[in-house]
Amino acid sequence: MTEHHQPRVAIVGAGFGGLWAARNLARHPAEVLLIDRHNYHCFLPLLYQVAAAELEPEEIAHPVRSIFWKLPNVQFVLAGVKGVDLARRMVETDGPAIPYDYLILATGSVSHFFGVPGAAEHAFPLKTLEQGVALRTRILCCFERAVLEPHSERRRRLLTFAIVGGGPTGVEFAGALVELIRGPLVKDFSRLDLREVRVILLEAADGLLVGLPERLRAYAFARLTRMGVEVRLHTTVSQITREAVHLKDGTIVPAETVVWTAGVRGDPLVQTWGLPTARAGRVAVLPSLQLSGHPEVYVIGDLAHVEDGGKPLPMLAPVAIQQGVTAAHNIGRQIAGQDPAPFHYRDPGTLVVIGRNAGAVHLRGRAFTGFPAWVLWLGVHLVKLIGFRNRLLVLINWAWNYFFYEHAVRLILPSANVPASGSRQSVIGRDASREGVAPKEEQDH
Ligand SMILES: Cc1cc2nc3c(=O)[nH]c(=O)nc-3n(C[C@H](O)[C@H](O)[C@H](O)COP(=O)(O)OP(=O)(O)OC[C@H]3O[C@@H](n4cnc5c(N)ncnc54)[C@H](O)[C@@H]3O)c2cc1C
Repeated sequence: MTEHHQPRVAIVGAGFGGLWAARNLARHPAEVLLIDRHNYHCFLPLLYQVAAAELEPEEIAHPVRSIFWKLPNVQFVLAGVKGVDLARRMVETDGPAIPYDYLILATGSVSHFFGVPGAAEHAFPLKTLEQGVALRTRILCCFERAVLEPHSERRRRLLTFAIVGGGPTGVEFAGALVELIRGPLVKDFSRLDLREVRVILLEAADGLLVGLPERLRAYAFARLTRMGVEVRLHTTVSQITREAVHLKDGTIVPAETVVWTAGVRGDPLVQTWGLPTARAGRVAVLPSLQLSGHPEVYVIGDLAHVEDGGKPLPMLAPVAIQQGVTAAHNIGRQIAGQDPAPFHYRDPGTLVVIGRNAGAVHLRGRAFTGFPAWVLWLGVHLVKLIGFRNRLLVLINWAWNYFFYEHAVRLILPSANVPASGSRQSVIGRDASREGVAPKEEQDH
């Protein structure tokens, strides 16, 4: 690994930022090593559909190696990165250390629980493929357990799904969950009184989709409410236990499943690597995306704190993609003996889907809703998905769900209880005792 003639660029993270950086570096005279603890790239914008049993996990994931078949100067390394030795220019992994000439850090973000007691232990985050599958398993298991539960209070608790955070992920997931319940689960669980099911969306702010135009926020609220979601605004969560969400106003909402979509932050692991951290645990970088004092190191995507108009850029895929392209371009310039150029973000707009036939889009200053927004959302996500096979499978699944009100993906697989290799914060591993098998006292009934 140490003998190389062209400059070696190590990229940590095969998410949106890392992948686009590697693709763009492929055309430069460099040896590119893309390192990730998973051997696939996950298309996170569709993760909530895996959790809502609309799509299979493999339909939104793509093996990284196959993406680079035709780019011989890009190699993939499956490894968990434990640290970075900036002085010796080495990436420390759970395998051998990897030397580099240039480094791009693109490890993304993790769920931010804002110190709410019990949230990290009991809530279901939605940040990784394993977490999406774990949440799907939990939802399906709750229905299976509810069928056998004669005690109405416990049954209602099993059938209450609280979602914390009314941003795009919370809104999209709430809509998809209602459609899962109203569509296939009504037929699967005909013995259950589905009026006992509650989907509650908790948001601390005065409206959903903070940051979008008022018209879109009002539309999302009205649409979800019409779908049967209990949307509670001005509602702050103070604690989460195994069986309930506690609110700041003293209300206790009994719920076995709490989904956490309230916030994201830089990975605390990266904070131990001695990099300069800014707000939300992100790494502060120069306008060129370089680390101050280390012109050979770039930080991009969710992990990077870059300001635009005095505000940090949001943690979104287009930001990560554009930064990946800029970092690659700048390393190319450095290799050619030129100075790196500053990063400028071009906002491509925001798209949110709220169940079938309904979306909210903010594009070039224009806001529109309903069917056209939904169609645009479908088209954009289909085009952006990596791999023709994935696009085709997703399209077939969407069409099937749409025309037959039927989600084909409702298997509770035993493998869902096996934590993926190297997963840092696996809900599956942590909560395995709660999935598939009811707790002892509840099984006895
Ligand atoms: C549920 C959900 C829905 C979203 N929906 C949208 C949307 O609709 N539109 C939008 O624009 N954005 C959306 N986002 C945000 C968007 O996905 C992120 O902003 C984007 O993925 C950030 O890209 P990134 O490259 O910084 O990190 P990521 O894409 O998260 O990739 C990070 C990679 O680093 C790897 N990694 C992390 N730590 C290590 C380590 N120590 N060792 C080795 N590998 C490591 C991970 O395995 C991962 O592959 C959504 C995010 C989520 C979670």
